[in-house]
Amino acid sequence: MSMNLHALQSWKRTHYTMEINPELDGKEVVLSGWIKEIRDLGGIKFLILRDKEGTVQITVPKDETNEQIVKMAEDLQRQDCVSIRGIVRRMEKAPRGVEVIPKSIIVLNRAKQPLPLDITGRTPADIDVRLDARILDLVREENQAIFRIRHTALEAIREFFSKNGFIEIHTPKIIATATEGGANLFPVAYFEREAFLAQSPQLYKEQLVIDFEKVYEIGPTFRAEKSHTRRHLTEFISIDIEEAFAAAEDVMQVAENLLQYVCKVVNERCRRELEILKHKVEVPNVPFKRLTYDEVISELKDAGIKVSWGEDIPTEAYRTLGKMHPYFYFIVDWPTNIKPFYIKPKDDKPEISEGFDLMWHWIEIASGGTRIHNKELLIKRMKEQNLNPESFKYHLQVFDYGMPPHAGWAIGLERLVMMLTGVRNIREVVLFPRDRFRLVP
Ligand code: ATP
Repeated sequence: MSMNLHALQSWKRTHYTMEINPELDGKEVVLSGWIKEIRDLGGIKFLILRDKEGTVQITVPKDETNEQIVKMAEDLQRQDCVSIRGIVRRMEKAPRGVEVIPKSIIVLNRAKQPLPLDITGRTPADIDVRLDARILDLVREENQAIFRIRHTALEAIREFFSKNGFIEIHTPKIIATATEGGANLFPVAYFEREAFLAQSPQLYKEQLVIDFEKVYEIGPTFRAEKSHTRRHLTEFISIDIEEAFAAAEDVMQVAENLLQYVCKVVNERCRRELEILKHKVEVPNVPFKRLTYDEVISELKDAGIKVSWGEDIPTEAYRTLGKMHPYFYFIVDWPTNIKPFYIKPKDDKPEISEGFDLMWHWIEIASGGTRIHNKELLIKRMKEQNLNPESFKYHLQVFDYGMPPHAGWAIGLERLVMMLTGVRNIREVVLFPRDRFRLVP
């Protein structure tokens, strides 16, 4: 059949593939999608049609079907885009007990053969080959599952925040000054000036607690991150919260309750996707374990790893720690000198801070803390970290407008989705990942 717009009007889809069930036996339907697989058994041809919901078997019994349809079916190739009008038939041997016998087919677009990837995933391809042809790669069932889980996680996160009185904000991503000094920032040419891509919404979200008290943002963050690892990207989505009249412990509870809720929702709403990925999500009990920095240092010492007090914990040490504490745990009471300037030192012991990290096995998935709300102390901490308070003029002036005590955290969405899907490379959970070496497609 020739393809024109008038024809298309009467070719409106009646069902998605997954709505085709044995009860529709004998009914005429119109399906649209892409050819996923083709199997020819001589007298009979099977086409697997894919759409956004899943797949259905299209069966062409050659001696019972008109010649033109048989000829069209013979010409079809993987990933050709088609509409198919046909009759539903109950068929025990077919997947889900049902098949569609085509009465007519229109080819809306042909895919150029050979394809750069096996879209069934049976012949595995290297991740770089896959990312180069990402649109085709995303067609695979496993990828559809990953991005459905990502979608559901975001849905759950927004539900959770709304129920708990947080308001969603969007802060600027083109900024004039660095949040924590110049390291890791991407400069951008901004007319006659230099600007930067935001490495965090930190300062804006803190300021906004004066107006809204409980805020959250889910937005892109940019880090000129040289480390080429399986958990670092140069562009990722950060889930940030900030809450007025709260301290570290309050927002740690928000974090653990959120994670528990997200795990529960993904388990309930993504059963099929988790099955495809052969992954189980364990719903964690709250409260999570809270280890102090000192306890961590001493546990590591017992395991033969020396970390001097006041030093950051190296990746290898985290791997050991992750084995001792499988699943979620917090590390609290960090030395003030290794936390950002805005993290509050303890009143009675200023060398220790009210900052925390939230760990999942050996990977950090969130960090946060009580913030400093006193302007003089904030300026002092900036100077101690060799930052120039002058360049934080607009931020500091807000501290004259009645800044309340506040606390917050940031969770990396992609690291969370790694946990929910069981994939080991962060690039797998991003549509078009950006890292030190990858800027296309
Ligand atoms: P790391 O030590 O793992 O590099 P970080 O200390 O730089 O992380 P934060 O600045 O505290 O991370 O950011 C908060 C959260 O954002 C992290 O816990 C993590 O989940 C996520 N995150 C940070 N950097 C990256 C990155 N380069 N790629 C992906 N996610 C990241």
